[in-house]
Amino acid sequence: MDIGLLSVSVNVYSTRRIVEEAQKLGHYIEQIDHTKCAVKLGKGKPQIFYQGQNITNVFQAIIPRIGTTVTKHGAAIVKQFQMNGVYSVAKAQSITTARNKVQTLQIMARKGIAIPDTLFSINPDNIEEQIDILGGMPIIIKLQEGTQGLGVILAETKKSAKSIIDTFYKMNTSILIQKYIEESKGEDIRLFVIGNRVVASMKRTSAPGDFRSNVHRGGATEIIEPTKTEKFMAINATKHVGLDIAGVDLLRSENGPLLIEVNASPGLQGIEASTGLNIAREIVLYVEKNGGLKK
Ligand code: ADP
Repeated sequence: MDIGLLSVSVNVYSTRRIVEEAQKLGHYIEQIDHTKCAVKLGKGKPQIFYQGQNITNVFQAIIPRIGTTVTKHGAAIVKQFQMNGVYSVAKAQSITTARNKVQTLQIMARKGIAIPDTLFSINPDNIEEQIDILGGMPIIIKLQEGTQGLGVILAETKKSAKSIIDTFYKMNTSILIQKYIEESKGEDIRLFVIGNRVVASMKRTSAPGDFRSNVHRGGATEIIEPTKTEKFMAINATKHVGLDIAGVDLLRSENGPLLIEVNASPGLQGIEASTGLNIAREIVLYVEKNGGLKK
């Protein structure tokens, strides 16, 4: 199979691993930097160009690994491949949905998947009321499109919460406020979903002095066996966002697991290192099976 791997750099662990495993399985795979792709629309079939080369008809399948800075353009490129009949392991619309925490949580709430109490608004005139609606302090303030733990703030007093929220509203920055799940104790769990299966899971524990357990924030990882409920939530959350492959993050609260995020381009480094599993190979096998059918 001829596979296009949409990723800004080949010097990223996850990209490198997927290329490696695809080649081992006998596929042609090419890393395409989607930020350098152009689409020509007009008469006839839309054409996709990459560094002077017409790549419209090169691939049977694409694996998007769309980062955080160029989601919109990346999703548009993915959409063009899809519209041209190329199988994509992540649909453009799902990438966009997963990128936005409010959109994701709206879907989860609608589908009955447990999430922490969350509020979003843009009104700087009644911030105190918004905090009260949420159930009071402490609260978490998050950028709607933050990632790797950046843009996630724990506010312990109403005074600091009000000034932070006020600043974001006035800067026109989209945020959400969320109940702080104290009993999760700086830990969360990441379930790696491929198709209808949870293929790997790990617990992430925050570095001392932090409450964010992201590996990029110095969090430590350890292998865990998720409960049936946690697996069920992760598989369904992935499906509801419209993804086939996702990293689903859950907090273990005293009322059971709560979903905080569905990641459309989950990193492989932490999960492969902590579980010893070959996730990159699983991804390629999935593309092989599903991309092949649509040819
Ligand atoms: P990002 O997309 O930046 O990773 P998350 O929403 O996943 O943002 O939050 C980053 C980390 O902060 C989580 O991994 C978790 O450890 C912690 N965290 C997030 N939301 C809450 C919450 N409501 N209560 C307690 N801890 C939280």
